[in-house]
Amino acid sequence: IGRSVDMLLPEVVRNIHHKHIEEFTSSGESYLQMERSGAISGLRKDGTEFPASASVSWFIFNEKKIFTVMLRDISDLKRTEKQLIQSSKLASLGEMATGTAHEIKQPLNIIRMTTDTLIEMLAEGEALTPNFLKTKLERITSQIERATNIIDRMRIFGRNPAEYATEVSPQDAVMGAVSHLSEQLRLDEIELELDIPETCRHVMGDLVKIEQVILNLLINAHDAIMDKAERITAGEGPKRITLTMEDDPAANVIKVIVKDTGGGIPQDALPKLFDPFFTTKEIGKGTGIGLSISYSIVAEMGGAITVMNADGGAVFTVTLPVADEEPDQD
Ligand code: ADP
Repeated sequence: IGRSVDMLLPEVVRNIHHKHIEEFTSSGESYLQMERSGAISGLRKDGTEFPASASVSWFIFNEKKIFTVMLRDISDLKRTEKQLIQSSKLASLGEMATGTAHEIKQPLNIIRMTTDTLIEMLAEGEALTPNFLKTKLERITSQIERATNIIDRMRIFGRNPAEYATEVSPQDAVMGAVSHLSEQLRLDEIELELDIPETCRHVMGDLVKIEQVILNLLINAHDAIMDKAERITAGEGPKRITLTMEDDPAANVIKVIVKDTGGGIPQDALPKLFDPFFTTKEIGKGTGIGLSISYSIVAEMGGAITVMNADGGAVFTVTLPVADEEPDQD
């Protein structure tokens, strides 16, 4: 009593907090819910910080403006969310295992063929010139690098998401997701059509989380196409995923659109699609957490994810607000 609410906030966010309150007071609104969890943190008595959700409202009492601030510790929620995100990523990695194994086998095969040739030549007493040897060794190193890149890509995808949002290039996130799945798509003879602009403004978030959203959409599109191909005589209709990215300056958003030819979503499933654990896939294949996790990742970034049926397939649109041109120094 008698002290400023500042004592509940870490020093670095106090200025932002003051600015929020000023904006809120002059906005004419009487209630503000600060939804972007993770963006707000609180300060414990022992000096440690915790992720918080906050709401603030005001009313006039005795001609004085009275503020009510509610600050809730959401550490448990954040921890559970993190675990779910990790489970969803593991499920995605599992789905892609065949493609990834195949992708790693290619450089390994080339390395084996190259070394086999060298061993054979040695056994037959052939003269190996330094130039010839150099070419072969270079081929081996480049293939080792190729395999290392695949493993690194998976390692980065497996890491825990960052605590705070940073500026992310949406192209990097989209291409990251594509690189995880492209081999699997090739094996299953699914055509992937990409329409991605060369330059695009950045969004605020976590690279791996955005990658995960796009990957979930691509995996679902892949599954729908394969499921349809199984039900209908093989070869009927195209097997195609179209991934389009647009920078929409009017709405100040980046749009990523994933369209497939997998037959679309039944009307009765549409309202439940983003619910946790809603799946139409058999046990062991689907978990039903992909879309619900994607939904919360996108919502946390202040964006949206929508779905509709068109041209014999599903169309998912992810809308992400662009990052401020000049990031707030506060
Ligand atoms: P999972 O893929 O593990 O089932 P998701 O949350 O990713 O979980 O998807 C939920 C359900 O939404 C899927 O089981 C499927 O029925 C439906 N779905 C998602 N994407 C598509 C799509 N592109 N085409 C058809 N159905 C889809």
